[in-house]
Amino acid sequence: RSSAEKFEFQAEVSRLMDIIINSLYSNKDIFLRELISNASDALDKIRFLSLTDKEVLGEGDNTKLDIRIKLDKEKKILSIRDRGIGMTKEDLIKNLGTIAKSGTSAFVEKMQTSGDLNLIGQFGVGFYSVYLVADYVEVVSKHNDDKQYVWESKADGAFAISEDTWNEPLGRGTEIRLHLKEEAGEYLEESKLKELVKRYSEFINFPIYIWASKEVDVEVPADEDESGDEDDSAYGSSKEETEDEDADKGEDDEDKKPKTKTVKETTYEWELLNDVKAIWLRNPKEVTEEEYTKFYHSLAKDFNDEKPLSWSHFTAEGDVEFKAVLFVPPKAPQDLYESYYNANKSNLKLYVRRVFISDEFDELLPKYLNFLRGLVDSDTLPLNVSREMLQQHNSLKTIKKKLIRKALDMIRRIADEDPDESTDKEKKENASSDKDEKKGQYVKFWNEFGKSIKLGIIEDATNRNRLAKLLRFESTTSDGKLTSLDQYISRMKAGQKDIFYITGTNKEQLEKSPFLERLKKKNFEVIFFTDPVDEYLMQYLMDYEDKKFQNVSKEGLKLGKDTKNKELKESFKDLTKWWKSSLSKDNVDDVKISNRLDNTPCVVVTSKYGWSANMERIMQSQTL
Ligand code: ADP
Ligand code: MG
Repeated sequence: RSSAEKFEFQAEVSRLMDIIINSLYSNKDIFLRELISNASDALDKIRFLSLTDKEVLGEGDNTKLDIRIKLDKEKKILSIRDRGIGMTKEDLIKNLGTIAKSGTSAFVEKMQTSGDLNLIGQFGVGFYSVYLVADYVEVVSKHNDDKQYVWESKADGAFAISEDTWNEPLGRGTEIRLHLKEEAGEYLEESKLKELVKRYSEFINFPIYIWASKEVDVEVPADEDESGDEDDSAYGSSKEETEDEDADKGEDDEDKKPKTKTVKETTYEWELLNDVKAIWLRNPKEVTEEEYTKFYHSLAKDFNDEKPLSWSHFTAEGDVEFKAVLFVPPKAPQDLYESYYNANKSNLKLYVRRVFISDEFDELLPKYLNFLRGLVDSDTLPLNVSREMLQQHNSLKTIKKKLIRKALDMIRRIADEDPDESTDKEKKENASSDKDEKKGQYVKFWNEFGKSIKLGIIEDATNRNRLAKLLRFESTTSDGKLTSLDQYISRMKAGQKDIFYITGTNKEQLEKSPFLERLKKKNFEVIFFTDPVDEYLMQYLMDYEDKKFQNVSKEGLKLGKDTKNKELKESFKDLTKWWKSSLSKDNVDDVKISNRLDNTPCVVVTSKYGWSANMERIMQSQTL
C-alpha cells in the first residue's frame, strides 16, 4: 500500500525475528498461547479501566470481553481477535517493533545457544513467536483514543503501518492475522487449535471461542432446487447430498406426502473452549494436582513441564476476605538475587472480585518472598479506585500478614513431607511409598531458595523464629548432609548451653581451623556458615529456642565447667599481664587463658560485639 508508513525494527528485535522465522525449533505450538495471553492482558486492561469509567466499554458487541479464533482454510489465514484495549498508532509502533524489552538481548543470546523458545513469554517478546508459523502477519487494532490501524510485516527487518480504510471496523480491540507458512498447515485444523487451547490456555479468565464447523442432518424438500440456497456468511456453509432411502420407495400416492430428503450440512458456530470459572474460586478438594500444575505454568509463563515444589490454596475469612493460591516454583530464576535490593519484582497477581488489578503490587509480599508465584483475589478491597489508592489500603497489611504465614507454612510442609528430612522416629511412622515423590524435595528447595530464607531472617523480625526453623546448614557432625537447628538441639551435649558455629569461606578450610580443635575433641557439634550472607544473618539471629548462638572464633565461648581454669588463670597471671602490656592497646583488647584450644598454643579471638575475621574479609572485598 502506497499510503503505508514504513518503519525499521529495532536491531535486537530484528535479530530475534530472524532467528524465529528461520528456526527449526520443533515446538511451534507456543505462538498460540502467546497470542491468547496478549489478548487476555489487553482484556484485563480494558476491564480495569471500566471500573472507574463505564463508558470505555462502549455498547453492544464491544462490551463482550472475549477472544475469538477463526480459520480461513482457503486463504491459509488464522486469526485471533480480542475486544481488549487495542493499540493506538503510537502503541503499534512502540510495542511491536521499535522498543525492545530489557530482556530481549539476553533472550537472543540464550536462544542462540539452547535454541529453546519455550521461555519466550517470560522475556516479554512472546508476540514475535508468530513468525514460527507465519511468514506474513497483520495486526489490525482499534483503541478508543485513535482510528483503526493495520500493522504488517514479513519479518524482513521492516514493518508498515496504515490507517485502516478497507477492513471491517473492529469497534475496539485487536485482530492478529497470521498468513501461515506452507509447512504450518496443521494450524488450520480446528482439532489442533482446540487441543492447544486446552493444553496451554485453559486458565485464561475470558471466554475463548473458535469458529467451529459442525455437521448436521437437515430435512429439506426433496425436489427443491438448491442452487440458490447459498449461505452468505464469511466462511459459507456447504451442503452435500446424502442418500435418502425412504423418499423414493415405490409409494403410490406420492403426490400427497411432501417429499423430503436428509442432507448433511456444515454449519459454523462459536464454540466455547475453556471453562471460565477461575481455579482459585473452586474448592481446593476438587482441584487436581495436574490442574494446579497447569495453572502454575500459565501464571509463571513457565512451560517446562516441571511441577511446582509446593502450593497452597486457601480462603481467608474475617475482616479481610480473600482467596489465594501460592506456588513455590521448581527453580529459581537466574536473576533472583541479582538486583535484590533495587528491584522489587513481586510475582503475585492481585485481583479484586475477579478483576485483574495488577501484578506489580509491592505491598503483598515482603522482598524475601518474591520468589513465590501466585494470585490473590480480594473481596474486601474497593474496586473503583486507582492502583495508587489501593496500594495504601489498610487491608493490604492484613493480607500481607496472612500471605506470609501461609507461605511459610507451605515451605515447612515441603520439609515435613520429605522423608529425608524427618527424624528416624518419624520415618518409621510414615514409611509409605507415596513419600518417594517427596524425597529430597527440601534439599531442592534449599538449594534454590535457601538464600531467601536467610534474607527473611534478616528482614522479618516478626517471623524470625519461623524462618529459623527452615534454615539448613552443614556442621562438624552432619557428615556432608544438611541439618536443621532443631536437629542440632536434639544432639546437644548435656551441659551445652549455646549453639556453636563458625564462619568462613568454605567447609574444607574451616575443618582445619584451630578454633575447632577442642570442640571437636570434646564432641561438640559446630555449624559451618560459609555464605557471605551468613555473617549478616548471625547479626540478627541471636538465639533459637532459648539457646544463644556462639561464634567459636569470638570471645565468650564456654565449654561447660572446667575446674582447672581457675588455677591456670592464677598461675599464668603474670604472663598474661606482661603480654597484654607489651602489645599496644590498638592491637588487642585483652589476653586471656582459655580452654578452647588443644594443640595450638594461642589464637586471636574477636570480641563479642565486633566483626568476626570472616566479616572483616567480606567487608574488605566489598569496598575494594
Ligand atoms: P508482553 O506480552 O510480555 O508484553 P509481547 O511480545 O507478547 O510481550 O507483546 C508486546 C506488547 O504488544 C504488549 O506488551 C502489548 O503492549 C502489545 N500487544 C500485543 N498484543 C496485543 C493485543 N492483542 N492487544 C493490545 N496490545 C497488544
Ligand atoms: Mg505477551
